[in-house]
Amino acid sequence: MKKFVLLLILVPAFILNTHAKSKEPLSIIPWPAKVEITKGSFVFNNNTIITLSEETDELKNLADLISSYFKQTSIWKIYTSTKIKTKKPYSLITLQLKNDIQAKESYVLDIQPNLITITAGDGAGIFYGIQTLFQLLPTDQNQKNLSVPCVRIEDSPRFKWRGVHLDVCRHFFTVEFVKKYIDVLAAYKMNTFHWHLTEDQGWRIEIKKYPRLTEIGSVRKETMKDGKPHGGFYTQEQIKDVVEYARQRYINVVPEIEMPGHSQAALSAYPEFSCTGGPFEVGTIWGVIEDVYCAGNDKTFEFLQDVLAEVMALFPSQIIHIGGDECPKTRWKVCEKCQARIKSLGLKDEHELQSYFIQRIEKFLNSKGRKIIGWDEILEGGLAPNAAVMSWRGIDGGIAAAKAKHFAVMSPGTHCYFDHYQGLNGEPKAIGGYTTLEKVYAYEPVPEALNEEESKYIMGAQANVWTEYIEKTDHVEYMLLPRMLALSEVVWSPKELRNYSDFSERIEKHYDILSKKNYNFRVPPPVEESDEYLITGKKMFELKKPIKNSIVRYTLDGSEPNEKSKVYSSPIMISKPVVIKARTYLKNGRVSSANSLSISLVYTLQNGINYKYYEGDWNSVTDFYSVKPIKTGKINRLSLRDVKIKEKRFGVLYEGFIKIDKPGQYTFYLSSDDGSKFFLSNNELIDNDGLHGDKTVSAQIQLTAGKYPFKIYYFNKTGDYSLKLEFESTEMKRRIVSANQFFTK
Ligand SMILES: [Zn+2]
Repeated sequence: MKKFVLLLILVPAFILNTHAKSKEPLSIIPWPAKVEITKGSFVFNNNTIITLSEETDELKNLADLISSYFKQTSIWKIYTSTKIKTKKPYSLITLQLKNDIQAKESYVLDIQPNLITITAGDGAGIFYGIQTLFQLLPTDQNQKNLSVPCVRIEDSPRFKWRGVHLDVCRHFFTVEFVKKYIDVLAAYKMNTFHWHLTEDQGWRIEIKKYPRLTEIGSVRKETMKDGKPHGGFYTQEQIKDVVEYARQRYINVVPEIEMPGHSQAALSAYPEFSCTGGPFEVGTIWGVIEDVYCAGNDKTFEFLQDVLAEVMALFPSQIIHIGGDECPKTRWKVCEKCQARIKSLGLKDEHELQSYFIQRIEKFLNSKGRKIIGWDEILEGGLAPNAAVMSWRGIDGGIAAAKAKHFAVMSPGTHCYFDHYQGLNGEPKAIGGYTTLEKVYAYEPVPEALNEEESKYIMGAQANVWTEYIEKTDHVEYMLLPRMLALSEVVWSPKELRNYSDFSERIEKHYDILSKKNYNFRVPPPVEESDEYLITGKKMFELKKPIKNSIVRYTLDGSEPNEKSKVYSSPIMISKPVVIKARTYLKNGRVSSANSLSISLVYTLQNGINYKYYEGDWNSVTDFYSVKPIKTGKINRLSLRDVKIKEKRFGVLYEGFIKIDKPGQYTFYLSSDDGSKFFLSNNELIDNDGLHGDKTVSAQIQLTAGKYPFKIYYFNKTGDYSLKLEFESTEMKRRIVSANQFFTK
């Protein structure tokens, strides 16, 4: 067989050193199925040649990928030739496609001192072998000898759906950014990009037959009353470009065209496909909107089929996402056409009408050789015969689908919603929730409730990046990274090889890799949770260094640490109340947020807060004013944790004295989830009562120095519970009322 040859020629010559030894561990993410480390290393030099098992465009492109990788670092240049002409000893990189290898996306990467072989049954496998090879290279590409350790890796993915989603409707992102997003997916062997293209707040895909979809539907006049128009859409040419770009990186792009709900942008352009006829405007507020496509109007289906026909022409994906989530039935209940449809088909209710809607669309897509996937609401009222389910409201949708022998992709909000917070403090705005890197890593896509046979219907898992609160591209990257790296291991690596502490070590190199590729990502701070610690005298205080190869800088006066602040090297001696603020500084210049720990010095005899703990189901703190407490006690911090709560529904009364050091105008802030009330000197100062999420209410009061009796009532009925009391004055920045200011007499 004729060999296609690419010569890699090094510009600045260096000494050939085949015995260079890599000191770095194998920081591969996702961790491969089988790794065998052998002796020696392969050194890239001016006599390194790439050979191909056959001269196909695909293999040539894959070889280009290797050579351009080195070219990017401006060390290497490529020369092509049809046969190896050099008389000098050379080292080889061989890309081999073997038709007898059946497993898709699998590869063998064999690195010997003068020979690297990547063998696979398909291009995807070779591509993934190359990604692994890249990760083995040192991040410092300027060093003299670029070498990789000798190793034999046999690798294949655990799941066939390794997805990441992006919502470009709530905020629009350019083609350039979408490509950068795809690049990082591919580098971590993710193979599915779910492109959320239509929403209430924006229609982002050009449809030639219905130009108003983008003329009108792609722009909203404002966002959450900010008064600023926001819009954007992709032309069909741009979409083709992105799909092809993704294909070259072995990523399938799954378009999502939302129906029957989340369709206000489309209805603002074509109100005739709604139940009421409109008029509508493109959504400006987040949430679920009542106006949806009319399920009783055949013209609606003609419209959607026309749209989907153009979508199918652009996206070769076998599977098309049709949304199906959060569709209110309000309009259908009073629409003559919808009710007539229910009657004529003998449907039970509007849920069955939704099921009819999805099934009719499915039938159309099936007739064109495509399949549908939808959010788990498509289970309601009966699942369409060939539909796959994307389980987002927990895992039950995925379980129900798999038990009914339908394919499912697991994407539960708890672990896979990357619009959630990654840390408790100092984070950029998120929609809510709390999903740490470790939590993502711990996710197991196959629910325990499924037996072996049913488990086969779990295609994989997917991260979703909704962008209601994410406007900028660096913010998108921050939410995605490094959590996607954890998910890549969940969906690729064998379950039994997953190990978080090992992953935590391997990820350090990737902070460098991501930095070099100019991605933004979260750097773990030394202090994750801003909290109050109590000391009764001197105490050595230890700070955590979250990344080995980093520096922690801190301050003790509550100011923001900067590059001139003290470097943490050993435990700090604390003997008076302080606020410790600390940041992680990576070698590559990236910095974490600065969270604070306040340390309070308390005198055990005088300091303290008396509490009474109640249990019961209440809607207001006044409901337990006359109830007998379950227990009483004394604590030092105004903390629910210290009360040691036993039931989900409970109330607490805190009593004691607050010491005010200097006279002045004070503002108190009482935050709680659910309700609370704050009394000072027997007067109700703050009323934050009632059932609600985390909410802050403030009040001002003129105080002289001295001790003031106080009471705080708090109760929890549903959801999370939290309570916080802060204060500020003209001379003092807002901070929590600390333990050394509470007295019991
Ligand atoms: Zn209707």
